[in-house]
Amino acid sequence: MPEFRQNLATKDWVVIATERRQRPDAFKRAPTPPAPAKDCPFCPGQGAKADDVKVLPNKFPVLVSGAPAQKDRHALYRSLPGEGVHEVIVDSPDHGASLATLPAPHARKLAGVWRERFRETLANEKVALTVLFKNHGTGSGASILHPHTQLVGSSVVPSHIRHRMDEASRYYDSAGACVFCRMLETELKDKARMVEENDHFAAFCLYASLSPFHVWVLPKRHTATFGEVNDKELDSFASILQRLTRRVNAALGDAPYNFVLQSTPLDRGTTEAFHWYLSLVVRVGGGSGFEMGSGIYTNVVVPEEAAAFLQAAQA
Ligand SMILES: [Zn+2]
Ligand SMILES: [Zn+2]
Repeated sequence: MPEFRQNLATKDWVVIATERRQRPDAFKRAPTPPAPAKDCPFCPGQGAKADDVKVLPNKFPVLVSGAPAQKDRHALYRSLPGEGVHEVIVDSPDHGASLATLPAPHARKLAGVWRERFRETLANEKVALTVLFKNHGTGSGASILHPHTQLVGSSVVPSHIRHRMDEASRYYDSAGACVFCRMLETELKDKARMVEENDHFAAFCLYASLSPFHVWVLPKRHTATFGEVNDKELDSFASILQRLTRRVNAALGDAPYNFVLQSTPLDRGTTEAFHWYLSLVVRVGGGSGFEMGSGIYTNVVVPEEAAAFLQAAQA
């Protein structure tokens, strides 16, 4: 029978659509051939070192620093300059590399660059929200397939992020604990949805996974922003991400995925209530009008089965 499930932290609802149920292996696909490197703007010239990680301004930025105010303000609608930061972090000079296949020290170096850029963007007084994300593979929204990560610092904090902060604060006020810490304790004990765990992080399929392979990676130490991660934790973070993406590759072919770091925005003092995390979504299947109309997601894979499937795959 179909089942509604709710994410305790975000309050998002999903229907586990058992009448349309699919086995996790139904989403396995043949690995895509490597993308051609011809005309790739991120391929380096001569002299690049194998473990180079390059930070570039985005050539076609979503937001820009010093965006001018709009001249024609509409009387009713609200408009603000598109102020912000948009950077590209080129993970490797190797066009065919991926996070899963980088040598471990290179992945750790990359995670260090993420932290450095994240901290610096957060310190920018024009930036209220910093989003670090990766689009991997055709179908993920990536316009360039050379492995890269992006960072956007936005001067606007949208309502769904505010809502998320409010929900976390509400839980903290009533339960006296961080909702994410509670979820983490439960998942570590329950193990039914656990995919990967190490000294400082855990990765699990969400109880209310919004799509077939929806994984959260949470730091075990309560910290509100990614910028607070220490060196030892960063080692663990790079390692768990590599193992997780290798499992995804092994289980599903080189399926496209997105990951997003969710961190507390600067203007909110909810450091006890909010806990940063990385959300990974494998891009299999898509939304429908029902989701658009209701805000309720439908997921055709039972999250416990998705977790077992990823757990059984080679890391
Ligand atoms: Zn390239
Ligand atoms: Zn916490």
